[in-house]
Amino acid sequence: MRSITVLSGGIGGARFLQGLLHAIDTGALPGVAPDAVVTVVTNTADDLWVHGLKVCPDLDTVMYTLGEGIDPERGWGRREETWSVREELAAYGVEPTWFGLGDRDVATHLVRTQMLEAGYPLSAVTTALCRRWLEPVHGERVRLLPMTDDRVETHVAVADADAPSGTRVVHFQEYWIRMRAEVPAETVVVVGLDRATPAPGVVEAITDADLVLVPPSNPVVSVGTILGVPGVRDALVGTDAPVVGLSPVVEGQHVRGMARQLLTAIGVEVSAAGVGLHYGARSRGGVLDGWLVDTGDAGDVAALEAAGLRAAAVPLMMTSPEATAAMVAAALDLVAR
Ligand code: GDP
Ligand code: CA
Repeated sequence: MRSITVLSGGIGGARFLQGLLHAIDTGALPGVAPDAVVTVVTNTADDLWVHGLKVCPDLDTVMYTLGEGIDPERGWGRREETWSVREELAAYGVEPTWFGLGDRDVATHLVRTQMLEAGYPLSAVTTALCRRWLEPVHGERVRLLPMTDDRVETHVAVADADAPSGTRVVHFQEYWIRMRAEVPAETVVVVGLDRATPAPGVVEAITDADLVLVPPSNPVVSVGTILGVPGVRDALVGTDAPVVGLSPVVEGQHVRGMARQLLTAIGVEVSAAGVGLHYGARSRGGVLDGWLVDTGDAGDVAALEAAGLRAAAVPLMMTSPEATAAMVAAALDLVAR
């Protein structure tokens, strides 16, 4: 295998990619070439405009993580960050105050915004930013693609007694960061998704891959939005590559983030089997060939197999690149069998 494509969100996806690269480097993946190219199709529906800047949280999390610029404790933003810009903005009393823009991070958003305003599509901007972060560490072997160059934004409807309709719609980032996903999500609306087109290279990355991996990213607002870009689902259904995913839900709980709230909002059972069956088997109209669940969810394997998926239970906690590499090896083994 020479080319692996991963459909990624932010933090969960980035951790998974570290493990995948570790697995390739240590020869833990039989049949995968040491110089295999990893293409990351990244969710952009978390993107937002803030203080006039275009911010792409998932692209930046993957870029900084693989480029060794991430803050390892927070899992997002730059390491050794300072916050003078945020303090100055707060002193002016300008909203929003809940979105943390670090000083170092601001430089990325300034470059991105300036290039977008000069007319470059997001995919070209991403390539330019990655020249600083990915090339020195990984050479040409990691490619980062936004799922689309079009503006797509996830909004969440929440109950609000003060709103005339009883419901208020907020940007996904406001739901997650300001509201801490503490109130139930009533509906999830991905604005612009149905009219979006895949960014250049996205369909080819899936169609021409030797292996497609769906990491333990949020199944609604990360993987779900990528799958919703018209053309992406068809590419997955049609590719000759095996498609295998790993559950972000372990023993009925998300490991971090807010998958529970959002799965509930779209009517999907919050369980490892629930998410696997939601994606579905390619042989039965879905997008997956295989689905890995955590050892704590071994009881889900039979139901998944009955639905046409290859399934197995292995430890799925991404506690270190080594642990994650073992997960990737198990995923490959599942579809190589
Ligand atoms: P986000 O952009 O920060 O939401 O990151 P992702 O979109 O990649 O999604 C995070 C998802 O990954 C959440 O639903 C978590 O439940 C899941 N997750 C995070 N860490 C782990 C882990 O160690 N193991 C597993 N199985 N899932 C995880
Ligand atoms: Ca995200």
